Formats: sequence, C-alpha cells, structure tokens
Amino acid sequence: MTAQLIDGNALARQIRADVSGRTAALKARGIQPTLAIVLVGDDPASQVYVKHKVNDSSETGLVANLERHPASLGEAELLARIHALNEDPSVHGILVQLPLPRHMDSQKVIEAISPAKDVDGFHVASAGALMVGRPGFWPCTPHGCLRMLDSIGYELRGKHAVVIGRSNIVGKPMAMMLLGRSATVSICHSATADLGAITRQADVIVAAVGKQNLLTADMVKPGAVVLDVGMNRNAEGKLCGDVDFEGVREVASWITPVPGGVGPMTRAMLLVNTLEAAERSAK
Ligand code: NAD
Repeated sequence: MTAQLIDGNALARQIRADVSGRTAALKARGIQPTLAIVLVGDDPASQVYVKHKVNDSSETGLVANLERHPASLGEAELLARIHALNEDPSVHGILVQLPLPRHMDSQKVIEAISPAKDVDGFHVASAGALMVGRPGFWPCTPHGCLRMLDSIGYELRGKHAVVIGRSNIVGKPMAMMLLGRSATVSICHSATADLGAITRQADVIVAAVGKQNLLTADMVKPGAVVLDVGMNRNAEGKLCGDVDFEGVREVASWITPVPGGVGPMTRAMLLVNTLEAAERSAK
C-alpha cells in the first residue's frame, strides 16, 4: 500500500479562503479583526515566524500589529503592555512570540493575556476549557492536525489514537482533542518503554517529538493514518519530520508530508482563532 498524502498546503489554502470571506463579512459590519503580536528580543527564528504571521494575516484581511521590544525590556513593562492590549477593544487576539528572554517567566506572561484574546491557546484557562469541553481557543498545531483528519472524513470514534510527545502546546492538547472525538488515546513520551509495541496497535499516530526517523515502518500497523508534527533538519540541512516518510508511506493509508503538512495548518489555525475572537466579541 502506498499512502495518500494529506496536503497541508492545499487545506490551509481552503481555510484561508474561508477566513477571508468571514473577515470581509465582519468588516462589512464595521469590525476589523485585529491581532497584536508582541516580539521581545531578536531571536532569528522568531523573526521569521512573526513575519509569516503578519503576512498570513494581511493576505486574509486581518490586521496584525507587530510590536517589537528590546531584549532588555523588563517583565513588569511587558505585563503592563499586555494589560493595555487586554483593555483595547480594537484588539481581538494577542500573541506573545516565544521564547521570551531568560529573565522573563513565560507562563506568567501568557497568564496575563485575557483568555478571550488568547489566540495561541496557551493560557491555563484555554487548556482547562479544552479539558472540560467548553468553548475556548485550541492550540493551533493540534487543532490543525484534527482538521487534517476531518478533511479525509476520518471517523475517530472508537479508534485507537497514539500521540507521541506530551508537551503542553502539542501532545497534551492533541490527546484531549482526540479524546473529545471518542477515540481511545495513548500518550507516549521519552520514558515510554517500548514505543513500537504501542504504535503498532494504533489506527492513528501523531508524532510530535523533534527527532528525525523516530517512527519507522516496522512501528506502524498497515493502513494507519500518520500525522507528522516534527520539525527537524536532516544531514543535508533540509526540513524533515519525525517520521521516516519513505518507509512509512508504504505501510500507512494516509500520511502528512514535511514540509507541506502540519506546518501550514498551524499557521492557518492562528488566523481561524483570531477571526473567531473577533466574531465572539461581535456577538
Ligand atoms: P517538546 O520538546 O516540548 O516535547 C517533545 C516531547 O517528545 C516530550 O514530551 C518528550 O517526552 C517526547 N520525547 C522525546 N524523546 C522521545 C522518544 N525517544 N520517544 C518518545 N517520545 C519522546 O516539543 P514540542 O514543542 O511539542 O514540539 C515537538 C516537535 O514538533 C518539534 O520538532 C517541534 O519543532 C515541532 N513542532 C512543529 C509545529 C508545526 O507547526 N509543524 C508546531 C509546534 C512544534
């Protein structure tokens, strides 16, 4: 069997088109969906990420206001800035680009964002809302993965989904979303004794670790659906995921490529969350 590709670029394009339409409808009612992006310091990767976020926003009619602060900014000053953005009715979403400089407590900064504007979905209130099935913002990467499963019409109910990785921004929320769809969920991590023994039972595997070739063909049940969240550089410096793509595609039924899989979906879901923040504020 050669797996079919779940094309993240194509799906993200559809989602952006939908966001554009809904944004236009809000604008017609006098509401301009607006995202505030707060960047502290000059981390090179963060510079690239925020540039993408600004461009993606403007292409879909959202406004993204990028504010840059020097790495020397004090934590109290940053918190004051976030409070001001919380109070500003023209701002619907607030995103603090991580990582923050070492002298700042990232979790404390994230907790300062109003949950109504937490479009990254990293606030404990957002995590709690996901846990108990209440409305809130879902983190963009796992939300994008779920949309990819939906795009192929995959019925999760009663299926065994294995998530590899237990970070607060990918693995854990992914597991909660899959559980919310009535899948049986296993979460594996660095202390898991025999990863292959568990992944071989899976109907769906989400790999979110950050290790090239972590998941190989012998660890995958024939016909499984494989989503690759990992972002690594191979020996040639090319972007690759956690999955041995060439091997696993011969066993799986569906697979996401890297690049062109989960990455573009993560970017698209930030637009969706920002738009939804604006729509909710308009109700
Ligand atoms: P993280 O470092 O916070 O978490 C990694 C997880 O992998 C941990 O829970 C750890 O226990 C687990 N792990 C480590 N070694 C393992 C092993 N040998 N077997 C099983 N589990 C193991 O990372 P993260 O922030 O969750 O990101 C994971 C990967 O996803 C990274 O490559 C990151 O770059 C990528 N990522 C991609 C996107 C995207 O848009 N495509 C978004 C976020 C993260």
